[in-house]
Amino acid sequence: MSKINQLTDYMQENNLSMVFTDNPDTVAYYTNYFSDPHERLLALVVFLDETVLLVPKLEENESRELSSADRVIGYKDEENPWQALQQIIKAQNVLVESVGIETDQLVVDRYYKLRGLLPAAVFHSITSEIQNQKVIKTTEEIDIMHEAGKLADRALEVGMSTLRTGVTETEVVAAIEYDMKKQGVSDMSFDTMVLFGDHAASPHGTPGDRQLKPGELVLFDLGVVWKGYTSDVTRTVAYGDVDDDIKEIYSVVLKAQLSAQDNVRPGMTAEKLDESARNVIEEAGHGDYFTHRLGHGLGQSVHEYPNISPGSETVLKSGMCFSIEPGIYIENKAGIRIEDCVTLTDKGAVSFTSTSKEWTVIPVK
Ligand code: MN
Ligand code: MN
Repeated sequence: MSKINQLTDYMQENNLSMVFTDNPDTVAYYTNYFSDPHERLLALVVFLDETVLLVPKLEENESRELSSADRVIGYKDEENPWQALQQIIKAQNVLVESVGIETDQLVVDRYYKLRGLLPAAVFHSITSEIQNQKVIKTTEEIDIMHEAGKLADRALEVGMSTLRTGVTETEVVAAIEYDMKKQGVSDMSFDTMVLFGDHAASPHGTPGDRQLKPGELVLFDLGVVWKGYTSDVTRTVAYGDVDDDIKEIYSVVLKAQLSAQDNVRPGMTAEKLDESARNVIEEAGHGDYFTHRLGHGLGQSVHEYPNISPGSETVLKSGMCFSIEPGIYIENKAGIRIEDCVTLTDKGAVSFTSTSKEWTVIPVK
């Protein structure tokens, strides 16, 4: 069933006569047209038998060509897009009594404008329904995510080949992103992370002018946006010889990562999967240093459903895509994380990235 039919089926079952979304990812999900026009309104309005895309005039031609919406309506900057929306609703000749909106996305000001147009309508949150639809990926989406993963593997290779004594974190970031641009990547999934030594002890640290020294670990966490879908991978490698106790911690993180990735199956709950990795780290005595959830879903955006964390009762299903990324972070010492993103199949996890996870020592240059 097409994505838009899934949505209209849901509308029918729940007596919704209209859905309104201005979330660029959701618009792209249902129409194949992605655009984020910032403060200008770009909205998909779904009725049971017609989908209408309301766009700023400057995007009208492109969106008409690229989107699968039944109708595209452009408005000029001097026009009021909410009046245009009112016309769209009027032209339907249906009584709009109930409207679905993404309550986690729609800003309050726009919600009031929408209510002003439809004072008698009741508004329903369709946030979880949209999440549920997006969470099972189609084979087309998964194919693209494999391509995004291959690019992330390449980015890691470039990053590792850039390491030399004295290079700064941001210089390595620059080399990675320059190479990705040349591959046709327009955006990274998030700010590329390259952290040296104990700087990596902060799981979401920001690369800076710190210079690489022999005997330090290097943590890479990166991904690209490719054809509207993201990748996300983390590797931690040694630059020259590092202390044995750090090597030991690495082997714990790797064991945790593999025990989750090798054993995940449809039907397992997300919390069970989290637990399978967390147990390994706890048994090794480092439980206090694994300070975040095991993973997150990804797709059009790098953080979406499912949430792989303690207390998450979501049942994992074939076609879901998510990260498995345990880490151990010891202040003033080291941060180690290993992350692959996978798609779940009936036989288990298939990773989007294939860079080796074995203990890797980059020779000092
Ligand atoms: Mn991640
Ligand atoms: Mn990551």
